[in-house]
Amino acid sequence: MVCRQCIKCRACSSVTLLRLQVGWLDATPFAIGCKGCGAILRGKLIQDQKNVSLDLQLENSDRVDELSDGNIVQEVECSGEFPVKRYFGTRAGELKLSPFIVASGFMGEAYIVFKANIYKYLAVRRTKWSELSTVIDLYAAKNYGAASNLLKQHFPAKDETPDLRTLVSHFYDVIDSIIQCLLPPNHFNKRTLYLLRFFGDAKRTNEKELGRLVEYLYNELDVLGLESEGINILTRFLNHFDYFLPTICLSYYSKGSVPQPLGAEYLITTTDFDIVKQFYADSYEWICRALPLLMGAENIRTRAEYNSMPTIQRHRTIKRIHSLSDFQHAPNAIKKEFIGTSPGLKQYFSSILDNQIRNAVSHYKTRLDPVEQLIEYFPFNDPARAQKSKHIYLIDFVNNTYAQLASVWDVLYLIGGVRVSANQ
Ligand SMILES: [Zn+2]
Repeated sequence: MVCRQCIKCRACSSVTLLRLQVGWLDATPFAIGCKGCGAILRGKLIQDQKNVSLDLQLENSDRVDELSDGNIVQEVECSGEFPVKRYFGTRAGELKLSPFIVASGFMGEAYIVFKANIYKYLAVRRTKWSELSTVIDLYAAKNYGAASNLLKQHFPAKDETPDLRTLVSHFYDVIDSIIQCLLPPNHFNKRTLYLLRFFGDAKRTNEKELGRLVEYLYNELDVLGLESEGINILTRFLNHFDYFLPTICLSYYSKGSVPQPLGAEYLITTTDFDIVKQFYADSYEWICRALPLLMGAENIRTRAEYNSMPTIQRHRTIKRIHSLSDFQHAPNAIKKEFIGTSPGLKQYFSSILDNQIRNAVSHYKTRLDPVEQLIEYFPFNDPARAQKSKHIYLIDFVNNTYAQLASVWDVLYLIGGVRVSANQ
């Protein structure tokens, strides 16, 4: 079912005809660019499933009657759960299919799994959300006694031993069972376990040295503070998962049906650049801060000592990195150079942590075409290249951010594993 509604931009009075796809979610956000002035028109479609009624909540536009206003400047398809196919308007013979038809064609049976996972997540939100949020807050604030009591009360534990190791393990199991509903299918086996195994290899290589690395992580990296901040980032993701839903959906598309870049064929109408860039910057910085955990493990795996950094000759700053502490305090771009020397880490991080996008986002050197959903960014600091720009589509940016958020969980899960084995 599709809900048609004309809305008038409060900034320029242009009228947009929205074709909002009504799905199975109670509330779906939308954000689209006004063709008249470039403002982002935001709102929410609320469905009352019981009474079969719809309500459109608008932030910066007003409803107008479709017939009485002939001034429609654009017609926009919106979907709360699917990517929206780009149509080029006047192309002869172009068949316009609804986002649902396009997506279900590429997802097949996986659509049922996608929907079941989102339903499972929504059921937790409906029934246990306030208790779970309190558990997360207590845990992040290191109030472990209260977190443990509340967790056991609402999420039965297999092991009732009243110690920190059991609590940490229980906490991560509960959050993992919830967050994996929102991550790509098989994410746990492909990515979360990958990092655990990588770290496990270091233990097999030199267990004593791994003990020294863990000591370093507690004393120098402040792994507990890092854990709290990572949990905060993911709590924001859990609260705003609906911004990312079309990219979650894309992760269920069959192999070969996902174009590169996504934006050449798809728009995303659940969120806009301003909202997502904070998620991008925070997840990027957090992962970079956590990298000593993995670099230390790589040093043990390949050179038997956590402090034994690989030799890279290319750059003066790089030559000065002789210990894990030097690495920890190095700029993020340098950290990435070192990660690149490890085939295992390179494979895991190859699709995330784009330093050029991060620089542009953090220094406000971006420009958005809101109708085309194309972001122009200026990644270079040196004056000779300051005006040189690159482009990324909004949906690709949201997808990269989603992949980074998933990696925040993988690294957090590893931190949980380190805490359980160190029992502290
Ligand atoms: Zn406008």
